[in-house]
Amino acid sequence: MRSAGEPGSDPYVPRHGDARYEVLHYDLSLDYRVEGNRLEGEATLSCRVLAEAESLMLDLHGLAVQKVWVDGRPQRFTHARSRLTLKLPLAAGRELSVRVKYAGTPRPMRSRALGAAGWEELEDGVIVAAQPHGAPSWYPCNDRPDDKATYSIALSTPAGYTVAVSGELQGTRRTSRGVVWSFEQTAPMPTYLATVQIGRYREIEHPGAPVPVRTLAPAVIEESDLAGSFDLQPEMLAFFARLFGPYPFTSYTAVITEDELEIPLESQGLSTFGSNFVDTDWESVRLIAHELSHQWFGNSVTLQRWQDIWLHEGFACYCEWLWAEESGVSTVQAEVEKHHALLAGLAQDDLVLADPGRDLMFDDRVYKRGALAVHALRLHLGDESFVQIVRSWLEEHRFGTVSTEMFLEHVAQQAGDEAAALLDPWLRETALPTCPVPASA
Ligand SMILES: [Zn+2]
Repeated sequence: MRSAGEPGSDPYVPRHGDARYEVLHYDLSLDYRVEGNRLEGEATLSCRVLAEAESLMLDLHGLAVQKVWVDGRPQRFTHARSRLTLKLPLAAGRELSVRVKYAGTPRPMRSRALGAAGWEELEDGVIVAAQPHGAPSWYPCNDRPDDKATYSIALSTPAGYTVAVSGELQGTRRTSRGVVWSFEQTAPMPTYLATVQIGRYREIEHPGAPVPVRTLAPAVIEESDLAGSFDLQPEMLAFFARLFGPYPFTSYTAVITEDELEIPLESQGLSTFGSNFVDTDWESVRLIAHELSHQWFGNSVTLQRWQDIWLHEGFACYCEWLWAEESGVSTVQAEVEKHHALLAGLAQDDLVLADPGRDLMFDDRVYKRGALAVHALRLHLGDESFVQIVRSWLEEHRFGTVSTEMFLEHVAQQAGDEAAALLDPWLRETALPTCPVPASA
């Protein structure tokens, strides 16, 4: 799939990203008309060249580029098949500022294998659910998960809407056209975790956590509707922080859209749920815990390549089971045995956990088998050592990017080769290993 003009594309998300440079900071200034779905933007990317090159590429999908500047000077460009190419000689180490003026009608990015992701119109608002390939649907970017950057985002919308972005709100300002909402994201963030949420929301604060925890909900949802579901978030956050170390970001926001959504999705410091998840049943509560746990597993510590998605989803699924036990719904061991039995009834021969292929990267078996592998490791290590190893993993790679090999190396360093080796059949073979049970059982 790789050609000379597309250096270092991830085979799971081909034709995205450019490994020859990195972005240090995105400054996005956006104007959005909800009615008519019209976006006008100016993006300034502070970039650093990693390898000598004759051009660099940005990803931008479905929006028209009007003008590009490099270090303040107009720059010629071509924009085809969602790739914006700038031809210019680039020495390794050079820092440059790329400014792009663009406009159009944003729409999700579609791929046969990965489905639709990105900017999506709701009945009366917008969500951005970009994992894994949707970021170019709203801003020009170097769309690779291993290129994290900080962000300044200012977004203007008509009055009457609330805007949430993966970052801290700095303030709002009224203009003749509406309201400008300004956000800063100071923790490095990969492109796919950047989000914009626009709707007629009100904010409900959930007290009791070490950082602000809030839910943005439409008027049809009463605060009392969140009892036993979203109002558990401070308790969940404190529980995961006790196990795995401090919550990585400065706040956590759950956005509930009035529209029903098929699945919830994590962004940095924020998760999005459809109104169908406002429910006290376990199916909803487990997903509220799951999305929150992604702030540690996936958002602070992020995969370098999509093939390592089990490092996000296996741990997030395991966190569901941990919360099941903590909240008295079930025990981890009971969940392990239930899901092992369910998995055993499914075909395994097409799935290798450490490289499931892009068609299966979000297959439920990746989540469940990943969580079972985590449990097998825990039983081998014992609770104390397991928690210490996961904590040090998260601490050492806070705001960084990782791979399966790095995780195995970390386990081997901390607990010996045997501990790392026991993960091999889970990660690299197709046959399902026997169900992990405590030695005394
Ligand atoms: Zn997940």
